[in-house]
Amino acid sequence: MIRVIAGAATHVGRVREANEDSFLCANGLFFVADGMGGHSAGEVASDIAVTTLREVLSEAGNIVLASDDVAAAVRHANTAIYSESVLDSSKAGMGTTLTGLAVSNPFDHKAVVANVGDSRTYLWRHGELRQITKDHSHVQSLVDRGAITRAEARVHHQRNIVLRAMGIDSYVDVDTFEVDIEDGDRFIICSDGLVDEADDNEIEAQVRSSIGPQDLADRLVTLANDNGGRDNVTVLVVDFVLTTATDSTPIVTEIPPIAATIMDPPARNRTSMWFSVAAWVMWLAAAGITVAVAVSAIASK
Ligand code: MN
Repeated sequence: MIRVIAGAATHVGRVREANEDSFLCANGLFFVADGMGGHSAGEVASDIAVTTLREVLSEAGNIVLASDDVAAAVRHANTAIYSESVLDSSKAGMGTTLTGLAVSNPFDHKAVVANVGDSRTYLWRHGELRQITKDHSHVQSLVDRGAITRAEARVHHQRNIVLRAMGIDSYVDVDTFEVDIEDGDRFIICSDGLVDEADDNEIEAQVRSSIGPQDLADRLVTLANDNGGRDNVTVLVVDFVLTTATDSTPIVTEIPPIAATIMDPPARNRTSMWFSVAAWVMWLAAAGITVAVAVSAIASK
C-alpha cells in the first residue's frame, strides 16, 4: 500500500504582477505548470494544462496507468491549450511547461513522471537530491554539449529560452518514464522561479532542515523570494510511505493537509525602483527635446 503526504506552495514573487503558475495536487496526481503569454494568457494555459490532466487521468477511473496513458493525457492537454489559442486571438501564442508525476500503480508502487519544458521534478532518496527530469531549454543543450557547466547555466543570460512547451503547436513531444517508488521517497516538483534563484545545494539545505512536506514547500518559496523572487514560484513536495499490508486492497491515500499556501506578495521594492528609473529617463528625454527645440529656434533666427 502507498500513502502519500503532500505539501504545496505558490507565490507571485517580488517583481511580477500576476502568478501564471498552476498546480495539481490531488488523487495521486502531482503536477506544476508554468504559463507564458501576455495579457494573463499564461495563466489560462497553465490552468488548462492541470485541469485537463485531472479530468483525463482521474475521471477515467483507472487505478493503474501506463506511461502511455500519462503521455496521452499530456498530449490531450496540449491540444486543449492549442485549440484555445487558435480560437481566441487574445491568447495566441500562449503556452506552458508541465512536469510532475502520477501514481500509476499503487499495488506495485510505481509512478510515471512526465515533463515538457524547464520546470523540474527532483527526487530526494537515501539523503541525495537528484533532478530526474531533463530541462528542454537552450542552456541545457549547451550543458549537454559541454559548452557550459550546470552552474553557468543557472546564471546564463539565455536561461529562459525554452525549447519545448505545451500549447505552441498541435503536437507536443512528451518525456515520460516510470519510477519504482521506495519507502521514504520525496519528490520535489517546482517551476523555474525556484531553480533560477536557488542552486541545488541551497535547496538541499532546506530539505535537511524541514519538518514535513508543507513546511518544505513553504521554505523553498521563501528561499526563492529571499534570493530575489524575480519570477512566480511554485513548489510541490510529495512524500511516499510504503506499508507491507497485504490483507487490504492497496490504494492511494491522500493525507491532509494539502492546503496550498498562497502567500501575500511582499513589498515590490524592485518595481518601484525601476519605475523611478524609467520616470527619470523620460524626464531627461523630455528635457533634451526641449533644449533641442530651443537651440534650433535660436539657431534659425
Ligand atoms: Mn517561470
